[in-house]
Amino acid sequence: MTSVRLENVVKYYYPALGSAETKPTLGLNHVTLEIQDGETVSIVGPSGCGKSTLLKVIAGLEFPEEGRVFFNNMEVTYVSPQERGVGMVFQDYALYPGKQGSQNMSYFFEVHRRTEEEKQQRLRETAELMGIGFEVLMEREVDTLSGGEKQRVGIARCIVRDPTVFLMDEPISNLDAKLRERTRTEIKRLLKKFQITTIYVTHDQQEAIFMGDRIAVMRAGRIEQFGTFDDLYYSPANLFVASLIGTPPISILPAEVSGNTLQIAGTLSLTLPPTLAEKLPQGRLRLGLRPEAWSVQPEAGQGLTLRVTRIERLFTERAAFVYGQIAANTISALIPLDFPEVKQVSLQPDLERAYFFAAEGETVLHTPGIPELF
Ligand code: ADP
Repeated sequence: MTSVRLENVVKYYYPALGSAETKPTLGLNHVTLEIQDGETVSIVGPSGCGKSTLLKVIAGLEFPEEGRVFFNNMEVTYVSPQERGVGMVFQDYALYPGKQGSQNMSYFFEVHRRTEEEKQQRLRETAELMGIGFEVLMEREVDTLSGGEKQRVGIARCIVRDPTVFLMDEPISNLDAKLRERTRTEIKRLLKKFQITTIYVTHDQQEAIFMGDRIAVMRAGRIEQFGTFDDLYYSPANLFVASLIGTPPISILPAEVSGNTLQIAGTLSLTLPPTLAEKLPQGRLRLGLRPEAWSVQPEAGQGLTLRVTRIERLFTERAAFVYGQIAANTISALIPLDFPEVKQVSLQPDLERAYFFAAEGETVLHTPGIPELF
């Protein structure tokens, strides 16, 4: 039962003495984050944005320059990883080679001189938690296991110690696409069962969404937004978050407000609904539309004309997307699976579902918010 809190954490990496680089690198820039007991939080963002650093500060593998870390309201900022009792799973499995799965799992009990009884009991409990077929893996030498199987043993080796917090850093990025999908479903199932507070680092937004009860989006050492998928998707804090979350990504177009008229990409004029007309500033801005917020006709019409570059049909999801460019902006729109193979379509935006951003920079002017279903 552990909640985790970071308060204003700043972490620098100082260059080695004698190296050509003289300036320190900012790993974390005033990060504040509160993770509830039992919750799985995904940390997502581009490479180098500080995800691993954040995990290491929570683990106690790195100490911050400023700020504090709490486990259950107890400060642990300078406490060692062993004393924090965290469990970590990395991309490279870091299993002890030449040993069986079970030997990998029992190592901890041997090093810490726990009783044979306790060891056997925890191994049994963990095998049960890990589910059907896991006992077979425990018997095998880890060198003979596949990537996915190794990662299961890696997870079990953590769980057997009953960690306070479970930290996972890109645990499945070494696996091929098919296995990745299976393994992430498996990990999610296990996390639900364990109910251990988990922090899951990935650069892949779809994986972050799939794994996390809540998601923290990072950039350049900062947390740009922390919330549920719905928060990030319907009420992004800025253009960066809006563009990162969602597949295919949101389409952005230049637009201009004049009176209560919205002109999009210099071609399509629409009357703004009164609430938007009141809220939006006059003049240039940018319009954002998610794929599902377009209505698409298979021929030239009243809407924006999109020359089709590609139609993607996802048979398993019973949906398709049409892609093209308008004024050098990539547009993607949701269409029915049986949409005809055409060269050109006409697009009408649903302004109730539109996002608006300032003409320059990343400021949000309006987001649709989470839709009411009933
Ligand atoms: P991510 O996990 O998001 O890819 P990291 O947390 O690894 O990002 O890195 C954040 C920043 O800190 C990067 O600019 C990286 O180059 C730098 N950094 C990370 N570890 C070290 C280190 N040991 N020494 C120097 N700089 C580091």
